[in-house]
Parts: sequence; structure tokens; C-alpha cells
Amino acid sequence: MTHVSLKNLSKIYPGTQTPALDNLSLEIPTGELTALLGPSGCGKTTTMKMIAGLLEPSSGDITFDGKSVLDEKPEDRGAVMVFQNYLLFPYMSVAENIGFGLKMRKADPNQIKKRVGEMLDMVKLPDLGNRKPSELSGGQQQRVALARALIIQPDVLLLDEPLSNLDAHLRLEMRDLIRSLQQEMKITTIFVTHDQEEAVVLADKIALILDGKMKQYDTPQAFYDAPIDEATARFFGSQNFIHGSAKDGIFESSLGKISIPKNIKAGQGALTFRPENVQIQQDGSKENTFTASVDNIIYLGTQTRLKLKLSDVEIDAIVNPREAQGLSIGEQINICLPAEILWKVG
Ligand code: ATP
Repeated sequence: MTHVSLKNLSKIYPGTQTPALDNLSLEIPTGELTALLGPSGCGKTTTMKMIAGLLEPSSGDITFDGKSVLDEKPEDRGAVMVFQNYLLFPYMSVAENIGFGLKMRKADPNQIKKRVGEMLDMVKLPDLGNRKPSELSGGQQQRVALARALIIQPDVLLLDEPLSNLDAHLRLEMRDLIRSLQQEMKITTIFVTHDQEEAVVLADKIALILDGKMKQYDTPQAFYDAPIDEATARFFGSQNFIHGSAKDGIFESSLGKISIPKNIKAGQGALTFRPENVQIQQDGSKENTFTASVDNIIYLGTQTRLKLKLSDVEIDAIVNPREAQGLSIGEQINICLPAEILWKVG
């Protein structure tokens, strides 16, 4: 088990001006699963390749348990990377693919056979050892890639968008498998994804990277309750921002005075809140209740999304479909934004 540190890590690819990764520092605790989350092109794969030793940083350092690994070859680092497109050896059987790492380490053939059998059971493919990768589904190939990585009992497991080529059902199944294997084996794991929901479900901590820079490194819950800025709140699915200024538990805005928690820091900024925390009220007597007109009603199956307008401010609310029943577009309703759901960014 290994503690990974990234120290002021940057990468500028030859012939380019803008860093693909700009001064990233991150402590990845022993045995935990950390998600590197960000949109396409933000530098996630670049970071993983540098940790794996497949790419040299332009500056900065990477340490495993306090010791720099920059001078170590990829195969000596104890980190193994699983790629998005699996990269299985097409001419080898599933069992040979899984056993490859042990064969390279010159392990005893009987021992390899036994361990391959255990790994096939672990990834729930007990009867498919003799097939070729081309005879497997995408989800099965991904599980083989995972087994091939895990068989060598790596200190650090690097998973680069391992679920992105799978359909929705398989993605959920693989997500659960990765989480349970990781918790069982306690391998320090870094998981790259652009899907915030995937990061939230899987990770102990999330590092959000936007434009090559780290925005926030926190628990999944903190990204919902206390996003660091508007871009972060938006990435986590909130479109709700009321601009104005905070002082002594009051926020002055175009909607008038809004009561806010006393610990919110004074100054200009935007109040933000989760769409699922907006409350529909029958009357207007509660604090922080506003009249809103219903601009749109979007039925999502288990939830209903309401697009609301409060004078010049547009907000999203997510409510139980039963609460939205009978509402019509253009109708005026009362909504409440209780102080405890409000957070200020900026
Ligand atoms: P995705 O989610 O699409 O895989 P990513 O976050 O993993 O994206 P990277 O692959 O790390 O992003 O790329 C970060 C930036 O570096 C991008 O702007 C990309 O175009 C650039 N880049 C990646 N590889 C190279 C290369 N070999 N030469 C030049 N630029 C590169």
C-alpha cells in the first residue's frame, strides 16, 4: 500500500505553449480511491501517464511513500495502468492475458495457473479463460483488463476512464465491481473520469481539474455542499446562482434581502444551492420565500425538473413528481430557499 504525492506537477508537450497540466499538487492517501474528474482535454490522462512512468513531467515531482519515482522505469514503480480501450493482447487467450504480468516476472507456471483461476473468479468470468479477447463483450474485456492489472498486486492502480466504453447497465455493474475489489484489496487507486456521478459514487476523494488546473480536492459531499466557485458548482449540476453581497447573515440581491447562515463570509459573490433542496410552499409565510413563475416542467421519471423565474433570476428546482402534479407553465408558485441550503461562491 502506497501514499502517492504529486508535487507541482506540470506538463508542456513539445511544440505547444499551453500546459496540458499546470502545477498540480495532490496527496493521494494510502489505500483510498481518488477520482481525477474533469472535462475532456483537461489533462487527466497526461497526469496518469506521468504517474505510471509512461510520460516525463516538464517539472515537479511524483513520490511513492515519500520517495521520488521519476528515475524509476514504469515496470519498477509498482503502478499499473488500465486503459479505456483495454489494450488486451489479441492473439493470447483470456487466461494468457491475465497471467502475462506473472509470466514476465518468471513466476512458477502452476502458481500462474492458480492465480489466473482466482482472478477469473474475482472478476466473475470463471469459464472464459480459453476464449480470445475478440470473443468477449466490451464489459468482459474490461474485466479481463482489470484482472490482468490486479494479478500482480500493484501498489498503485491507475484506471483511465475504464467505464466509458460500456453501456449504462454494464457501467453500473463494473462500477460496483471496481469499488468492492478496491475496498477488499485496499490498493491506492486513481480513477480518471469526466462523469461527476461516477466520481461521487466511487471515490473517497475527488480532485476536480479544469483547464489543466486543480479547482478543488475534497470529499464528494463537499462538492455538493461547498463548491469553491461557480464553475465547480456548475460541473456538479447546479445552475442556481443569485448575485449580490453578503454581510452579517444577510445577502442583498435583486430579489431583496435573503437570510443566510452567519458563517458565510462577507462580500460580493453568488448564492448557490442544489436544485433538489428548493422547496415548494403553499403559503408565503416562511423566511426566504419568493414568488416564482413556472417556465418549464420536465418530467424525468423519478423526479421532475422545474425551470423557474424569480424576477430576473432563473433557477432550477428538482422535486418529487407528485409535488409537480397539477402545475402548469406560466403559473405563479411560492418557493422557499431555507438559509441552511445556501452557500456563497466568489
Ligand atoms: P480525455 O478525457 O479526452 O481523455 P484528458 O483530460 O485525459 O482528456 P489529456 O489527454 O491529458 O486530457 O490532454 C490534455 C491536453 O494535452 C489536451 O489539450 C491535449 O490536446 C493535449 N495533448 C495530449 N497529448 C498530447 C501530445 N502527445 N502532444 C501534444 N498535446 C497533447
